[in-house]
Amino acid sequence: ATPTAVMVATGVGANNGVLIKGGDALERAQKVQYVIFDKTGTLTQGKATVTTVKVFTEMDRGDFLRLIASAEASSEHPLAKAIVEYTRHFQFFEASKDSQHPNEGSAMSEWLLDVLDFQAIPGRGVQCQINGKQILVGNRSLLTENGIEIPTNVENFVVDLEENAKTGILVAYDSELIGVMGVADPLKREAAVVVEGLKKMGVRPIMVTGDNWRTARAVAKEVDIQDIRAEVMPAGKAEVIRSFQKDGSIVAMVGDGINDSPALAAADVGIAIGAGTDIAIEAADYVLMKNNLEDVITAIDLSRKTFSRIR
Ligand code: ADP
Ligand code: MG
Repeated sequence: ATPTAVMVATGVGANNGVLIKGGDALERAQKVQYVIFDKTGTLTQGKATVTTVKVFTEMDRGDFLRLIASAEASSEHPLAKAIVEYTRHFQFFEASKDSQHPNEGSAMSEWLLDVLDFQAIPGRGVQCQINGKQILVGNRSLLTENGIEIPTNVENFVVDLEENAKTGILVAYDSELIGVMGVADPLKREAAVVVEGLKKMGVRPIMVTGDNWRTARAVAKEVDIQDIRAEVMPAGKAEVIRSFQKDGSIVAMVGDGINDSPALAAADVGIAIGAGTDIAIEAADYVLMKNNLEDVITAIDLSRKTFSRIR
């Protein structure tokens, strides 16, 4: 392709909300054999919603929610935001019940408990001290690594959530498992069509996630992705990319999160969701400004047409 053709293609991309950072990136996309999708915020909308709250002790539901919201309040994670958001509605409702004036006294910050030693543990959850006791909010690994036993009834409850494509968030307080939340994050509407389209183009779709295997399988099934890597630690996503590149295959990575940026950089073609974090956008070769996965196909198509390689 001539420099002019590259310039024209870059312009066509930009007009369609596909930002291409340079001619090399444009050229590499035509050769892509694997497209590796991050799950949360990429295949899914990244708008998690709490669907289930289950307390396994005598603890009052309001006290349970207050503990979790306090623990998650300073986390940036989408799951934390979902929990805080849910709790905000709950707290607003409770506050307006007690008050003569419906909108009075509902300041979330006043309702939250004081937190000490807050720690966000990537790929695991959060931990801190509340009322002098340790609270853990996160996945199984977070709890078991802290010596918390997961009773069978709780395990069964979490398995059930996961089989329904939800993420189970476990809560331990003072070394005791006190409850579970179920969080759902719906697929993007175009996700399944894009996966099918890629297959028709001879490109193999893969899903990678830090989430657990059971949830990952349930989500992958909905979009008809056969090949998945789950329970991948934040640093591990780049490793996954390299493993696919080992035999010389050309790999694209599509992601949105801070966690995804090393993988976006490691991929032959890094594609960031425009609504994603700045770090992901910086690490990528392409940015999808419309946040629409169809533009993964647009990007590959544009490259194929520009370099007129028909497979
Ligand atoms: P993803 O690849 O989906 O972005 P992460 O690596 O961010 O996943 O997180 C992996 C898992 O760790 C989540 O599915 C969740 O179980 C747990 N986790 C991480 N952060 C939090 C948090 N703030 N609160 C609860 N659970 C969390
Ligand atoms: Mg993500």
